Amino acid sequence: MFELRKEDYMSYLREVAAQIHDKEEYITELDAETGDGDHWLNLDTGFQKLTEKMEEWSACSYAEFYRNIGMTMMSAMGGSSGVLYGSAYLKTSKLLEGKDEITPKLLSDILEGWASAIAQRGNTKPGFKTMLDTIYPASKAYARAIEKGEDSKSCLEELKRGAKEGAESTKNMEAVRGRASYREDKSVGYLDPGAVTMSIQLECLAEFIIKNLIK
Ligand code: ADP
Ligand code: MG
Repeated sequence: MFELRKEDYMSYLREVAAQIHDKEEYITELDAETGDGDHWLNLDTGFQKLTEKMEEWSACSYAEFYRNIGMTMMSAMGGSSGVLYGSAYLKTSKLLEGKDEITPKLLSDILEGWASAIAQRGNTKPGFKTMLDTIYPASKAYARAIEKGEDSKSCLEELKRGAKEGAESTKNMEAVRGRASYREDKSVGYLDPGAVTMSIQLECLAEFIIKNLIK
């Protein structure tokens, strides 16, 4: 069991912002292969903005905090990812109405909410070689583990596994959405940058909870 409170979520965001910041070369290179090379810059700009603004949000409710994250990503991040992450956070902010903590089951609902928001906003499906190919299987793996009544650590390990395998699975996919689909070879043989960075975020979140919130 764990309770992910707003202050914890802030610490997680600082941690993932730092991880993304440090991966400039790798992420830029991935998007330069199959896209336009700005994916790291978009994400880094968004996450740095979040860390700057977080102080201002210390008094707001959890739901409002999530809404602020969504709005900031939408406006500061740019690219497809800004709109997609913005939609994911905005949609799932509703699940946090009246809540002071994210429980294991609520996390499951939030992750499934992210997946459905991204699928809807991006008009995309699993298998189209996008960030959805990470969040969808990861959220499903986590939900399955929760339903089976596994302990929180095992559920979070499943989330990490689902995310990692999902991101890797994009390598052999033909791109149907996003800039990777503009190439004649449909970018087969290349990882999708958005799927990789989604995996970085989900693995970081799971690891953060395991390290800090599970006794
Ligand atoms: P842009 O493609 O506008 O340059 P980014 O480089 O920030 O934006 O993000 C690219 C990533 O966004 C892709 O790797 C992919 O994972 C994701 N993406 C692009 N289009 C879609 C879509 N229609 N649905 C879901 N994800 C998408
Ligand atoms: Mg790009």
